[in-house]
Amino acid sequence: MICKMTYNPEYRKNQYLKHIEYYKTYYEDNRDNILEKSKEYRKENREKIAEQRKKYREENLDKIKEKSKAEYLRNIETYKKYYEDNREKIKEQQNEKVSCECGCILSRNHLSRHRKTDKHKKKMQEKCSIENKK
Ligand SMILES: [Zn+2]
Repeated sequence: MICKMTYNPEYRKNQYLKHIEYYKTYYEDNRDNILEKSKEYRKENREKIAEQRKKYREENLDKIKEKSKAEYLRNIETYKKYYEDNREKIKEQQNEKVSCECGCILSRNHLSRHRKTDKHKKKMQEKCSIENKK
């Protein structure tokens, strides 16, 4: 008898509507409570997610480090070989005179070192202030 009732579509529909009605009422009555709870839940979850992300990054960092180390070593070999094959050419290139953005003219292999010097920084500052005055 119960089985028959359970499988009666009309009965199930009614149960379903009752269910929905019940939840609707429950929600209306407890709206603030529910919102507060879900807010709390999200807050707790946010910390949890942040922690998981942090953990993931930390775990991944090792992988990335290993990968980039292997990449670095491989690149060094390639670079070494390239250097051996093109020693003269590279020397020429590095001795080639280039002009720095500060106005200095110097050989290419001194460029990166020169950019860290006070002379370069001072000149760039002067250049900037002149350009700002324009
Ligand atoms: Zn410079």
